[in-house]
Amino acid sequence: MKPARFYKSAGQSRIRCCLCHHNCLVGPNQVGFCQVRKNIDGGFYSLNYGKVIAQQIDPIEKKPLSFFMPGTKTYSLACWGCNFRCRYCQNATIAQVRSRQALIDNTPETPPAAVVQAALANDCPSISYTYTEPTVFAEFALATMALAKQAKLKNIWVSNGYLAADLLIKLEPLLDAINVDLKFFNDNSYQKFCGARLQPVLDNIIKLKQSGVHLEITTLIIPNINDSPTELKQIAHFISDRLGSNTPWHISAFYPAHLMSDFKPTPAATIFAAREIGQSCGLTKVVPGNI
Ligand code: SF4
Repeated sequence: MKPARFYKSAGQSRIRCCLCHHNCLVGPNQVGFCQVRKNIDGGFYSLNYGKVIAQQIDPIEKKPLSFFMPGTKTYSLACWGCNFRCRYCQNATIAQVRSRQALIDNTPETPPAAVVQAALANDCPSISYTYTEPTVFAEFALATMALAKQAKLKNIWVSNGYLAADLLIKLEPLLDAINVDLKFFNDNSYQKFCGARLQPVLDNIIKLKQSGVHLEITTLIIPNINDSPTELKQIAHFISDRLGSNTPWHISAFYPAHLMSDFKPTPAATIFAAREIGQSCGLTKVVPGNI
């Protein structure tokens, strides 16, 4: 546990968290929506600082990033927690941490320098903050990213794009590439399936593009939820019109998981139809995945 950044006092011992767009108002001895930031006696703490729950070496294409340092491997890590509650979360055991505080507490703390050393020792030219949502372990990610920069390593985020402006300002100078999920083009779906909102994600994607960081977008296509030609065209047009037609769009097949284990997987034909839609909207880099 370490003191958190990105918050302000809200009076009566309450804290307003400014790390992501939930902007939680956290009362004394309560945790935020993500469950990994806690108000303790009016101070605010990151419960998952350095609590690395997954570390492995991946091909960079697995992030997925297809047009940033292709053919290289990336040192990938996650700390516990997430600020979304995706009903189909593929990493629920490490991301959805309600009632898992004892597991987090018992996870040894990894110092940022150890992550950088591990990346160098394994000849990885980059570090990826991935698997869970790096926003909720931002203090640890930023500390590691600063050391990685000194060691001439690249920094990559795989994110749901829900970070707030204060974090984005600190992140941009250290970030080299990011893949952001654009899960739906429908605010109701964001609320229903993830407990979040669409507009902050769209705004952040545009800001990231304007910052000059390498940006790729991913949409997990779920049958009967976001696979209609209308919604896929809306996503493809947003990418093409607002980010540029050469912005990579990864279209991934859904597999049943977590609270949606009774759903059907996405047929390959749906992914190929989505690729045609993306191309018909002018996108030049549409990448099918997970099939
Ligand atoms: S990171 Fe987001 S979800 Fe977590 S406490 Fe802060 S505002 Fe709430």
